[in-house]
Amino acid sequence: AKAAGRNAIRFYQSHMNDAAQQHLIIASALRRAVSEQQLDVYYQPKIALDTGRLMGVEALVRWVDPELGSLPPDRFIPVAEETGLIAALDSYVMEKACRQLVSWQAQGVPVTSVAVNLSATEFRGGDIYQRIKSLVERLAIKPGMLTLEITESLMMEPGSDIHDELIRIRELGVGLSIDDFGTGFSSLSYLKRFPVTELKLDRSFVNDLGHDASDRALARAVIQLGATFGLQVVAEGVETRNQADILSQIGCTLAQGYYFAHPMPADQFEHWLAGDGQ
Ligand code: C2E
Ligand code: CA
Ligand code: CA
Ligand code: CA
Repeated sequence: AKAAGRNAIRFYQSHMNDAAQQHLIIASALRRAVSEQQLDVYYQPKIALDTGRLMGVEALVRWVDPELGSLPPDRFIPVAEETGLIAALDSYVMEKACRQLVSWQAQGVPVTSVAVNLSATEFRGGDIYQRIKSLVERLAIKPGMLTLEITESLMMEPGSDIHDELIRIRELGVGLSIDDFGTGFSSLSYLKRFPVTELKLDRSFVNDLGHDASDRALARAVIQLGATFGLQVVAEGVETRNQADILSQIGCTLAQGYYFAHPMPADQFEHWLAGDGQ
């Protein structure tokens, strides 16, 4: 009877409360991965549509846990945000990507720009400016070679702290990019208040460019908006030649996506770059 009781508890734990338990398992494994530096960073090229040349890379975190296997960022970034691990995770990725940039520069690998993703929750703590400033100084990186990708939701958050923080970061010379641009669209007025340098046209608008006239119109509007505000526009998630062609036709100059290259580890990226004759 005792064993049955224990089994019942185990059943309860494993079935009735799956999501919460998953969350705990991921959180504790992630805590270990962050502190033992078991996370990897992959790099995806950002390409000039007219010449096909490399214009920069985006750093994307990767995690393979010895027991849980490989988990996509969409599954563990939210956990990192809820548990407060995100600051350490993002700092780690930023440090690693910036060190990689320095190493590429020393080797003559023609990478002149690295973008890292920063969770919006990072801006609530308040020391993000200091962290970026000391990183850039410590590694002696030209600030213009670093871009921070942040989501639109950050711009919508009330409070002037974030506004001031972004202005100070921008004053360092670091680029500020709005990720997944177009998915929020609640208000665009922040574009005139925030010192943004780039818009990333969300993948959902790029997907159906070939057969959806309204997506084409939206993409064109974002590109024009960028031009009006003097912002670089990068199309995300370009998977086909046709999408790349349409983007070119409607005035988009920069793109990222599987059509050009998947995110890759640094050494594989170097081979890709060499093989591409860039
Ligand atoms: P994101 O910043 O919008 O990154 C683009 C995502 O689209 C990446 O997914 C990338 O691998 C994927 N992708 C690139 N090209 C294509 C394509 O042609 N087609 C399709 N279907 N997908 C493409 P990934 O690496 O799984 O990352 C997902 C999200 O997780 C990212 O979206 C970003 O929001 C977040 N993330 C990734 N790394 C970090 C990080 O170091 N820190 C933070 N805070 N967030 C991160
Ligand atoms: Ca991004
Ligand atoms: Ca994005
Ligand atoms: Ca995203």
